[in-house]
Amino acid sequence: MFDYAVEAPGSPTLSITNSTQVFPVRRIYCIGKNYVAHIHEMNADERDPPVIFQKPADAIVAGGGEIPYPVFTKNFHYEGELVVAMKSGGYNISEDDAYSHIFGYAVGLDMTRRDHQAEALAKGLPWEVTKAFDKSAPMGPISRVEDVGHIDHHVLRTKINGETRQEANVELMIWNTREIISKISEQHELKAGDLIMTGTPAGVGAVVTGDTIEVEADGLEPLKVTIGAPAV
Ligand code: MN
Repeated sequence: MFDYAVEAPGSPTLSITNSTQVFPVRRIYCIGKNYVAHIHEMNADERDPPVIFQKPADAIVAGGGEIPYPVFTKNFHYEGELVVAMKSGGYNISEDDAYSHIFGYAVGLDMTRRDHQAEALAKGLPWEVTKAFDKSAPMGPISRVEDVGHIDHHVLRTKINGETRQEANVELMIWNTREIISKISEQHELKAGDLIMTGTPAGVGAVVTGDTIEVEADGLEPLKVTIGAPAV
């Protein structure tokens, strides 16, 4: 044991369905612009290559629950997404090898300060302010591949206050899971504990205090988040 000079931050973990073990989270990679209909609603070009960005691991809200309405936004958006959990990695992973590195799958929310995203895009500024803030990554439990197989032709659904707002088969992803893993590993060494948020379908929108968000995908454990009072 180290004698830490300041309080040591805890390592984020996700629970695993049908297991007493937990999944240690190393990094969160995210893919932007991966469903054509969402690209159209964002007025972007579907021929652009995928956008890869990260959220800090401690943005995880494991298992959902209540999160505060965040500081520094007046347009707080949900993005329901399929999440891939890695058991191994490397550089330059081929599409053929990609599935062998997957531990399991979950559903998650890429919560977004949409007002600052528009500003960042217009001014060519970094995305941290819009994507990488506290509690911006609620995630459900991970289901192991050995239990549920690969989630590649399953319907992903997001409900706000019980009403379906996003619904798409994950096979509509422009870059499928194999291609995403291969693409990220061209830029970063993927490792065990990495999570990949694979992008959101059309139907994003704002939530406010008191709203409930549910994300579900066939075969996976659902995620439920309630927006609480402002953080400060
Ligand atoms: Mn997203």
